[in-house]
Amino acid sequence: MSDDLHLSAMPKVQRLVEKARSDGYTVIISKQIINNEPGYYKGRTIFLGDNYLKGENPKFPEDRMVVVFLHEMGHVKFQQSPYEPNELKSNRAADELAAFMYSLNESNRMADEGDHGPLMMAVHYITKRAQSGRQLPAYQQALDTLMGAPLWSESVARVERLKLQGVPDITEPQGWDWPRM
Ligand SMILES: [Zn+2]
Repeated sequence: MSDDLHLSAMPKVQRLVEKARSDGYTVIISKQIINNEPGYYKGRTIFLGDNYLKGENPKFPEDRMVVVFLHEMGHVKFQQSPYEPNELKSNRAADELAAFMYSLNESNRMADEGDHGPLMMAVHYITKRAQSGRQLPAYQQALDTLMGAPLWSESVARVERLKLQGVPDITEPQGWDWPRM
């Protein structure tokens, strides 16, 4: 699809996008996203920033963009869920928590299938966000709740086991970074 711009440069992200589309979600690859964010959602639609899909930004390797996509998908699924009450859907902290939980669950599922890259990335950046102290209150609340959940401690333990098995830790290039994930 020609208006997928640089999506094909990240085949894992591309597979997730194609699956989401075949499940009825709308995913738009955009040259202009508000605040130049890597990902964003509105209603049933997920937006990914084309700039981040080129593979030229050392701060955003493909596995990180996988997690960005899963996070936005987590928002959309939560907002569309018939089982969640509307009061909860309009609560920013609950919405963020749902997105973090979904991205972590799906990253674990990918690790079950042999790809542990997104899980390593998710645990690394969620930890970093939680420690940065520069979160919006809703994010901080969501992160605090997430980190009290068994899914979080299981994910951290799994990453520690992977490192013991010789999987390299995430190393970050210096410089500006997006303050959320
Ligand atoms: Zn979010």
